Amino acid sequence: MSRIGFVYGDAMLKHEPPPWHPERKERLIRILGDLQNSGVSEKLVHLRSKRAGLDDIALVHTREYIEAMRTFGEGCLDPDTYTSQDSLEAALHAAGSLIQAIETCKGGEITRLFCAVRPPGHHAEADSAMGFCLFNNVAVGARYAQKSGFQKVFIVDFDAHHGNGTQHIFEEDDSVFYFSTHQYPYYPDTGKDFDRGKGKGKGYTYNVQILKGSGNKEYLSVYQDFLPDLVRRFGPDIILVSAGYDIHVNDPHADIRVTSEGIRGIVHSILTSSSCPTIFSLEGGYDLGSLAECVRITLEEMLKVS
Ligand SMILES: [Zn+2]
Repeated sequence: MSRIGFVYGDAMLKHEPPPWHPERKERLIRILGDLQNSGVSEKLVHLRSKRAGLDDIALVHTREYIEAMRTFGEGCLDPDTYTSQDSLEAALHAAGSLIQAIETCKGGEITRLFCAVRPPGHHAEADSAMGFCLFNNVAVGARYAQKSGFQKVFIVDFDAHHGNGTQHIFEEDDSVFYFSTHQYPYYPDTGKDFDRGKGKGKGYTYNVQILKGSGNKEYLSVYQDFLPDLVRRFGPDIILVSAGYDIHVNDPHADIRVTSEGIRGIVHSILTSSSCPTIFSLEGGYDLGSLAECVRITLEEMLKVS
């Protein structure tokens, strides 16, 4: 059985949008509870999140935006995105979880990890917060990985929504491949299948639009029949996964019908597409029971695939 790392820190519970907001701390609490009750937790190597430095965040975000976030305090950044007093701290730990995971991979002993983070990251642009996201955790992770010697980074984003921030940050870069499946048309209205990158990055962005109502059949045909070849051709040094469980059939924030077993198939395909280090980072997923089950299934697959 492989050793699997699980990165988490209590600081990420301190981000508190208004009580009605779906992106709430109970998401992480429920995940931790389910892992404990199922016995999966004791099979994992538990690692504490690091607090990312502002220079780490600046690998991706503009200094103006970081300064605005540092001084903003409590309030509303866009119609979906709120901050509380300690949101900056939580967001630094979310991005810092990826840094912790990459540092661990460098050691060579544990090369597959799951980062249980919030706030999520893939909608955050270089210069703005968006769609529940403050800093783009996976994008910071990709740049930090490159600084650490993992030159070629393949990002898989299976969240129900397109990761507009991640695409825009890397679309002119041929060293980071961004692959996304997402409900379309849908929020945030980016990620058309003809968007394939720009300039030097042409051919290094790949979007698969998924029609609402689609489920296991559509997803598994993409993840089993198509993704592995794309990964092999790129030859990554590390894979980062924007793991958004709002594709689950029970999720109230999308119209995708992937079941828990479908999640297992997606995760299995990602893990078997390459033997390089692979780090999953939590994005969406708002039905608490299904979210916790899907994260557990992801970890069960990670434990199985050596
Ligand atoms: Zn989402």
